Amino acid sequence: MISKVISEDKISAAKELIYEAQKIAIITHTSPDGDAMGSALGMFQFLKQLDKDATVVFPDDCPRGFEWMPGMDEVLIHRSQVEAAEAALEGADLIICQDFNSTKRVASAQPALERSKAKKLLLDHHLEPTSNFDVIIEYPEMAATCEVVFRLICRMGHAEDITKEVAECLYTGLMTDTGNFTYSSNDIELYYIVAELMKRGIDKEEIYRKVNNNAKESQIRLRGHLLKDNMKLYPEYHAAITTLDAKEKAEYSYEKGDTEGFVNEPMKIQGIQVSVFISQDKDKIKLSFRSIGDVPVNTVATKYFGGGGHKNAAGGEAYYIGLEQVRKKVEEILPEIWNGRGESEK
Ligand code: 5GP
Ligand code: MN
Repeated sequence: MISKVISEDKISAAKELIYEAQKIAIITHTSPDGDAMGSALGMFQFLKQLDKDATVVFPDDCPRGFEWMPGMDEVLIHRSQVEAAEAALEGADLIICQDFNSTKRVASAQPALERSKAKKLLLDHHLEPTSNFDVIIEYPEMAATCEVVFRLICRMGHAEDITKEVAECLYTGLMTDTGNFTYSSNDIELYYIVAELMKRGIDKEEIYRKVNNNAKESQIRLRGHLLKDNMKLYPEYHAAITTLDAKEKAEYSYEKGDTEGFVNEPMKIQGIQVSVFISQDKDKIKLSFRSIGDVPVNTVATKYFGGGGHKNAAGGEAYYIGLEQVRKKVEEILPEIWNGRGESEK
């Protein structure tokens, strides 16, 4: 029913690394999202089943709505628990890197990750890894890193170790990385996997509510403000650009994660196929790109904003320039995005 997508040699290499290691650290990209957290905690719960001494390290804080995930109270946050997090990375026999493909994506934890003598296993669904790992399991056609983790555990012969806790974590990442099964989710096998997770007793409706319906009033009002006052449409390029500056963040008591998923909102407008959300942080400006169909946004995210991602969901950053300059730059590249239709395969 579920086909063998991951090659046999990769499964046996990963299995060997996991079996041989006793101390295992799991690390994800900075600003962990539902898939990063779900896949890391799912792996963590699975490794506990194998009696491994496992630790999850997130480079920085987690957004709201995921506090309930099993194992969340045991994670180490590198930014605020530097010593403990670095000790976990440096003392590990194996580090499993999940949901990113370049060590620079772990931000402040990058030196410790690179210094560590541990073997490194990459589990991801992005394109072409740009750093060195001992074993790489990376399938961009998969919906989420949680799918990679699910398939790996099953192929290792440990389907019975997918407990309800593992299933809750993995389901969360599948749900969030597909926008609640609205994109990157046309593969029928995804639903076989969901069915397997549901067999473990998870309540998918409750998970949806816990993750999605927990907004603060100020967060919803900020969304309203962004849509009413800050979203600009460019019909000839089928695009929308929305900005959020630091002053507005203060006005709406912004907390990290408050605009999670906002970039998808303008895509609901008929004819809009590209959305760019530009948000001013303390030390940088963060860009989120979304598109549908054959309009690639990862290419421009890489070319102009040192970032990357998937064809239809990408991100990047800008330093040392103002929000307005970044907005103008994005405006300038809208024709390039629109005219790039059909140029990328994935
Ligand atoms: P988001 O817009 O949700 O922050 O990111 C969407 C996707 O873009 C992520 O899943 C990730 O693949 C990619 N991405 C976001 N920010 C960055 C970045 O700064 N660098 C790279 N390489 N990829 C990013
Ligand atoms: Mn992901």
